[in-house]
Amino acid sequence: MIVTDSAVGWEAPPALVSADPELADLLGAEAVRRSETLQLLAGENVTSPAVLAALAGPLVDKYAEGYPGRRHHTGCALADAAELLAVERAERLFAAEHANVQPRSATSAMLAVYAALLRPGDVVLAMSLEHGGHLSCGSRANFSGRWFDFVGYGVGEQSGLVDLDQVRELAKVHRPKAIVAGGISYPRELDWAGFREIADEVDAYLIASAAQITGLVAAGVAASPVPYADVTVAATHKLLRGPRGGLLLTGRELADRIDRAVFPFSQGGAAMNEVAGKAVALAQAGTPEFGAYVRRAVAGARSLAGALGAAGARPLTGGTDTHLVTADVSPLGLTGLEAERRCAAAGLMLGKCAIPYDPAPAAETSGIRLGTGAVAAQGMAEEGFAELGELLVAALTGVDAASAGSRVREVARALATG
Ligand SMILES: *Cc1c(COP(=O)(O)O)cnc(C)c1O
Repeated sequence: MIVTDSAVGWEAPPALVSADPELADLLGAEAVRRSETLQLLAGENVTSPAVLAALAGPLVDKYAEGYPGRRHHTGCALADAAELLAVERAERLFAAEHANVQPRSATSAMLAVYAALLRPGDVVLAMSLEHGGHLSCGSRANFSGRWFDFVGYGVGEQSGLVDLDQVRELAKVHRPKAIVAGGISYPRELDWAGFREIADEVDAYLIASAAQITGLVAAGVAASPVPYADVTVAATHKLLRGPRGGLLLTGRELADRIDRAVFPFSQGGAAMNEVAGKAVALAQAGTPEFGAYVRRAVAGARSLAGALGAAGARPLTGGTDTHLVTADVSPLGLTGLEAERRCAAAGLMLGKCAIPYDPAPAAETSGIRLGTGAVAAQGMAEEGFAELGELLVAALTGVDAASAGSRVREVARALATG
C-alpha cells in the first residue's frame, strides 16, 4: 500500500516519545484526526513526503545569513548549492528573471515587497478585506494597515467579479504608489494585463498577491501574473505542497531591492531546511503528475460548486476557475458559522467566510469557503468529488447527516492510505 498522506500511520519517533511523551501523544492524535477527516480548508494541503524529508534534514541546523556566495557565516557551500537549486527551479517554473526563496511566510514576503517599494504613509490600492483581500492588504491589526494608507476596490454585488473600471477610477482619484491584485478567496482568474495597464496609467507598481494560486500558475492552469507584475508574491505551501513559506518573483531591475528587503531588512538567517524543502517542491511542481493533480483540484472545485448550487446555496461568481469555492449558505437558512459546525461534525473541515456585502456579523458570516487541494493531492478524482458533493450537501442540510459522517470517515481513511 502506498501511503500518500504524511499524517497517516505517523508514529512519533522514539527520540520524541522518550523526551516528550505528552507532545508525542498530541501529535499522534493530530495524525489520527487528519486521517479520519477530509481537509477542505482553502490554504491547507498534504505536504509531499519528499518535502518533509528535506525539512527534517541537516540544513535545519545551518545558519546562513545573506545569499549564495555572499554569506555572513562560514560552512555555507552546500547551503548555497541548495538555495541556488531552489532559486533556479523557481525562476524556470515561473519564467521569472529573479526569485527569492527566503521569506518565512507569504505575509513576511508582502512585508518585504512593501519595504522594497514603498515608504510609510504611501497610498496602496488593494482588494478590500471585506471582499477577500488578505490581512496584509490594509488590516489595522497588521503592519500594512498601520504603516500605509490603503484604499480598497471590491467586487460587484451581483457578479462577484472584480470590476477593472472601478479599479481604474479609484487609481485615478487616489494615485496609489502600488496596486495589489489578488486575494484569498477570489475564485476566478484576474485580468493581469488589465491591472498592468491601470498601474501604468497612474505610474504605480503592480504587486500580484498570488499565494492562493501559486500552484495553478505553476501547472499552467491559470494565467501567470509574472510577466505583468513588478513583483509576484507566491506561497510554497497551499497548492504547491511544499514547506510553509513565501516566494518572491521579480525582474532583474528590482531584484537587488527585493533581496535586501527580505534580508537584512525584515528577516535574519533563512530557515535553510525550508529552503531545501522549497527546492524539492519546486522540482515536483514541474512534473506531469503535478499538473494532473492541479487539474483534478479545479475540476473537483467546479463539481462541488455545482452541487452546492443545486442544493440551493449560492456559489459566488456562479462557479470557479480555481481550487476554491466560496458560497453564500444563507439561502439554506444557515450562517457560515453553523455551516462550518455542521460540516466539521461530519468530518468535512472547511471554513466559514464573510462574503462581499455580508449582512451577518463577522463572527458568524453568511458564507463558507473551501479548497480542493488536499483531497486532490490524495488522489480524489471525478467520482470521488461527485460523492463528496452529496456528502457536503447532506452535512449542510442535516438530511442523512449521520450516515454522511460515517461515510466521510471511510472515504478519508481510503484516500489517506492510497
Ligand atoms: C495565504 C495567503 C497569505 C498568507 O500566507 P501566510 O504564509 O500564512 O502568511 C497572504 N496572501 C494571500 C493572497 C494568501 O492566499
